[in-house]
Amino acid sequence: MNKTHDESRQGEAFQAAESPVDFHKKFYIESYGCAMNFSDSEVVAAILQENQFSATPQFEQADLVLINTCSIREKAEQTIRKRLTEFRKVKQSRPGMLIGVLGCMAERLKSQLLEQEKLVDLVIGPDAYRSLPALIEEASSGQKGVNVLLSREETYGDISPVRLNSNGITAFVSITRGCNNMCSFCVVPFTRGRERSRSAYSIIQEIQQLVETGYKEVTLLGQNVDSYYWEDEEKKQMVTFANLLEMAALVSPELRIRFSTSHPKDITDDVLMTMAKYENICKCIHLPVQSGSTRLLQLMNRTYSREWYLAKVDRIRELLPECGITSDMIAGFCTETEEDHQDTLSLMDYCGFDMSYMYFYSERPGTLAARRFKDDIPLDVKKRRLQEIVDKQGELSTRNNHKDIGKTFKVLIETDSKRDSNDWTGRTSQNKITVFPKSSSLQKPGDYVWVRITDCTRATLLGQIVDHP
Ligand code: SAM
Ligand code: SF4
Repeated sequence: MNKTHDESRQGEAFQAAESPVDFHKKFYIESYGCAMNFSDSEVVAAILQENQFSATPQFEQADLVLINTCSIREKAEQTIRKRLTEFRKVKQSRPGMLIGVLGCMAERLKSQLLEQEKLVDLVIGPDAYRSLPALIEEASSGQKGVNVLLSREETYGDISPVRLNSNGITAFVSITRGCNNMCSFCVVPFTRGRERSRSAYSIIQEIQQLVETGYKEVTLLGQNVDSYYWEDEEKKQMVTFANLLEMAALVSPELRIRFSTSHPKDITDDVLMTMAKYENICKCIHLPVQSGSTRLLQLMNRTYSREWYLAKVDRIRELLPECGITSDMIAGFCTETEEDHQDTLSLMDYCGFDMSYMYFYSERPGTLAARRFKDDIPLDVKKRRLQEIVDKQGELSTRNNHKDIGKTFKVLIETDSKRDSNDWTGRTSQNKITVFPKSSSLQKPGDYVWVRITDCTRATLLGQIVDHP
């Protein structure tokens, strides 16, 4: 599993732990969707803490219940609606409780959830979190609390996120917001607005603070991190993603840097060479391909062909031979033939992805694809093709993990293994989960250890701690 872009959390709740500060008023927040949403919830927590709210992990006890939503597929929205209905039931016995929808669904459905469906009291789009305190006040006095304005500037750069559910070792740091690409299947440009890059100084400052509080790994987040571009007006210089990566790597040699997501059209040699130059920049690239067929890639408006993608993978292998590559795939996009589908399977074989997030196409209202093309692949065909893609990925992950047996990796210990508290779990630079027995009472989460791989499953490497090779 690739934690840097944790689509496995799609449609799953991620609830805030208790706040470090205890105020009388309590908020509860549950997040769905991509890592960006989890990161945004930490910005929201900071804004609320500033306004004397502290987090509670029990929504029944909260004065304010927030749900940070995802619109990427229809199923994610259905899950959230169901959850809102549950909150609504609790509100009947706690009339003062406010329920708010944040994020992409708030942006997509605007006041529909509030006015027509009467499911919530507050609706706040991803660029309007600063107005939350004012909207809470309005909603408390019985008015409608809605702000879904998208911004061209908002990056929340000056806000220090309150880390929710943190293991104290790994953290997300947002570097861009929004997206300027117009992939025809995707709702993100409509729900999150134009792309903007956050000040490099505020990013580095946040990373420095994390290091000071003991964090050992940060993941730089954006829908398309490689298009990061920020003007340093003082120095009259442009900061590219490669420059930013270097600045982050130099904060501390003890800190690992990851990033997600890379668009194949934008990742440059400069980025790859910066990765090669610094040991602490993790050797793993999440490079979503979506389809192996050039014809479909064109319909998807991905702006690269199959050949371009394969050449990019070749280049990564050339400059970074040890680099893990992971991907996203969509089965059954409009007009997809069996031949197109076979192209996806053969591309996966060629690239040998270590892991992929795989979906069947879900038409989203308002997107280019919904307006231009017919969603013409029957559900059973979409599901069968998706299963073939999932099976292919299973084979590739198992094969790649077997190749690691006998090798030794530097692993950052994160926590006890879920299965057995006598074991640690951590990750290699390639982002592979690694489980191994604890070998000394002096080891703790946040330590780096060398692990020799002795066995594996499809998703996990198993090994033993060894001396520095
Ligand atoms: N910005 C990233 C990129 O371009 O790779 C990812 C953004 S999106 C949150 C994550 C993934 O969801 C996409 O890579 C795509 O595979 C999938 N996705 C997006 N829209 C979809 C749709 N309408 N149906 C099915 N999957 C979709
Ligand atoms: Fe969506 Fe494409 Fe932007 Fe990714 S790059 S968020 S898939 S529009």
